[in-house]
Amino acid sequence: MTRHLNYLHGEPVPPSTDAWIAQMDPRTSQRIGDVAASGPADVARAVASSQQALPAWRALRPSERGRVLVALGRVIRQQAALLGEIESRETGKPGREMPALADLVAQFFEYYGGVAGAMDGELVNVGPAYHSYALREPFGVVGVILPWNAPLHQAARAIAPALAAGNTVVAKPSEFTSGSLLALARLAVEQAGLPPGVLNVLVGTGPEIGPALAEHPDVRKISFTGSVRAGQALGHIAAERILPLTLELGGKSANIVFADADLAAAAPGAARGFTWNSGQWCAAGTRLLVQRSIHDAFVEQLVEAVAQIRVGPEHEAAAGPITTRAQYDKILSYFDIAEAEGARAAIGGRLPSDPRLQQGWFIEPTVYVGCTNQMRIAREEIFGPVLCVIPFEDEADAVRIANDSPFGLAAGLWSRDIGRVHRVAAQLEAGRIVVNEYGGGFVQNPCGGYKLSGYGREQGLGALEHYMQQKSVIIRL
Ligand code: NAD
Repeated sequence: MTRHLNYLHGEPVPPSTDAWIAQMDPRTSQRIGDVAASGPADVARAVASSQQALPAWRALRPSERGRVLVALGRVIRQQAALLGEIESRETGKPGREMPALADLVAQFFEYYGGVAGAMDGELVNVGPAYHSYALREPFGVVGVILPWNAPLHQAARAIAPALAAGNTVVAKPSEFTSGSLLALARLAVEQAGLPPGVLNVLVGTGPEIGPALAEHPDVRKISFTGSVRAGQALGHIAAERILPLTLELGGKSANIVFADADLAAAAPGAARGFTWNSGQWCAAGTRLLVQRSIHDAFVEQLVEAVAQIRVGPEHEAAAGPITTRAQYDKILSYFDIAEAEGARAAIGGRLPSDPRLQQGWFIEPTVYVGCTNQMRIAREEIFGPVLCVIPFEDEADAVRIANDSPFGLAAGLWSRDIGRVHRVAAQLEAGRIVVNEYGGGFVQNPCGGYKLSGYGREQGLGALEHYMQQKSVIIRL
């Protein structure tokens, strides 16, 4: 049994509330430990620690901050087995994916460590009578609120640029998956030389500590990754406080297959696009738009590809369980909704027959055909391995259906026609478009949403800007 405390100013700290949340193993639905249920007093303590650490951290030369972040990247690589073990146990992710995850997480610290200082300011030429420049400065203490579906990945992509820019951070991981970030913060202090208080980790439920963090007067920016509902709640607080906010929210991304595509690649690509991480992936391609002339043949190929995806608790499984019980119940409820709406499951759509899988929160990948874009299963984010297949006639029809969604996080496009690829990519309302594979993207690619999927961007050089504010200096000579 594990017991996760807060990690504040370089020390494990129990919650002032002495309240605890049971932590469950998604593979077995058994309790594996407890997590601190911190309260507002813990928020105050965490923010005070980050505020105390701020002057020295922001006064470092950017290259010195960068050196610490690059060192943390190296430590993450050295401790990949430890971090992977914790993340896999808490989320249920297959163990075989953990080395690649550690590599990705390390890359965020290495990349932002390398570019620290790259956007600190520029000379502004307003003629010979003046010397003028625009500085970019850190905000101060940044609150980073995180979801459970990709704990270390989401944490690294917000924390690394925030620290590189000279901010200090109070991070709040999901109460379901706190362990890996707590371990990373401890490694950062003990092995990478991050000064205590520069990265504090506060554990507890969203409603209890999320608003308290956003309302704290010393918190000057919030980066939030999670649901639209919680993003809206934070948006209200941010409106009152005029608090800068980055929102990385949900999605219902279209994956578009044209008749001219390499269908042998598109079928397994589309299968992976909605089953990776058991569909608990904000950018999952859960609306598959298929050109009508190839629809039936392509669905056959797709179902064959989906049938190969092995769901289970094993290290080698292609997909693990759903991470939380509430999410598992939500996904199952969409099976009834789909049936009531008249969609037909071409594969899946029921509980796994293997009794081993019934002990945990496993869901079979499910493909619904006979869908329209107006059905709830096509409009709402299910956040599980559930796909709706929707036919389209031509390019214009594909763009119309893809954009007819409250969300706009990502899209996929499969075609051999390069002209079509550029035309369609230009018209799609989505923050990331990947062509001839699904998902992907690199640390260097900006990532974020249109419409209900959020605003602001993580990843890429530009994310540094989201963690800084500009100051103009104009000197009359
Ligand atoms: P969630 O909104 O329930 O929780 C996210 C975090 O917010 C957690 O730490 C939670 O404790 C906290 N929280 C909950 N209510 C809050 C409130 N009222 N105020 C402040 N904080 C609060 O989301 P989740 O269920 O953990 O994650 C799944 C969602 O995250 C999905 O919608 C998914 O699409 C989205 N997501 C988006 C991205 C992206 O990059 N756009 C990435 C991953 C996940």
